[in-house]
Amino acid sequence: AKADGRNRHHFYSRALHDENQRQQQLRHDLRAALDAGQFHLVYQPKVNPQSGEVLGAEALLRWNGPHGPVPPATFIPVAEDTGLILPLGRWVLREACQQAQRWVTAGHALPVSVNISAAQFTDPTFLDTVQEELRRSGLGAHLLELEVTETILMRHVEHVQRNLEALRALGVQVSIDDFGTGYSSLSYLHAFPVNTLKIDRSFLAPDRHGPQAEALITAIVGLGRALNLQVIAEGVEEPAQVRQLLRLGCAAMQGYLFARPLTPGDFLTWLRHWPAQ
Ligand code: C2E
Ligand code: CA
Ligand code: CA
Ligand code: CA
Repeated sequence: AKADGRNRHHFYSRALHDENQRQQQLRHDLRAALDAGQFHLVYQPKVNPQSGEVLGAEALLRWNGPHGPVPPATFIPVAEDTGLILPLGRWVLREACQQAQRWVTAGHALPVSVNISAAQFTDPTFLDTVQEELRRSGLGAHLLELEVTETILMRHVEHVQRNLEALRALGVQVSIDDFGTGYSSLSYLHAFPVNTLKIDRSFLAPDRHGPQAEALITAIVGLGRALNLQVIAEGVEEPAQVRQLLRLGCAAMQGYLFARPLTPGDFLTWLRHWPAQ
């Protein structure tokens, strides 16, 4: 039993060592990646399947690392830990604004949504950065939407009011991402000048079908109505989910059923073929 314990200990510290090395390698690779031009953005359409309207597109970051593509769920936390998220997030904002301005020029005035990390939102230069990237790109502020998670808004209340009011004054839209997964104080929510609640996809996952998930979606849609906010559902994969959401009063949707996140070229092709499929 003793030897067994020692082996197990050895196994764990070995695994920990490997994990540390992997993390260090990732940090190292990530630092070089921005200069090496290894990032790009893909765009996932937001639609109203009932009217056929395209409502906008969410910009999602992709990294082709030296050893292949790395998913955002892996590298964004590392970028946040190392502080790289500030220059990287600024690059995302710049790139997304430029892309949306290209759409305008091509005759598609579609809002682009950009995900914002806590470190960006609480950075003292945040508002200046947003303003500067709008100016540089020439994009109208009403065509930029920032997606901020519920958790960020609840944890950084001291930055929230000032940031949200300044963004509203600029004309930038704000959406509360992953809504329903954190815990919101309704009294705060009421005071926040935001435009949209984005229902997290965990509420429409197949295993959550049923009366409970439905009650939650209904509650969020009702909250949206009461607070005069738009409501959009993310992660829509099946026609049954579309029918359910429409029945519950949510007509704005995003998900693989309509389109995967697309390169700018594929996005234009998709636009030409939507909604006739
Ligand atoms: P998120 O903001 O909640 O983005 C939605 C995620 O769901 C995206 O994953 C998207 O590709 C995926 N998705 C879209 N439709 C479906 C669907 O129908 N089914 C399923 N299963 N998934 C769907 P992705 O691109 O891997 O991004 C993961 C997360 O990484 C994002 O979650 C966001 O939190 C973060 N992220 C991505 N890009 C950026 C960025 O530029 N800046 C920051 N700060 N975070 C980002
Ligand atoms: Ca998002
Ligand atoms: Ca989300
Ligand atoms: Ca999510």
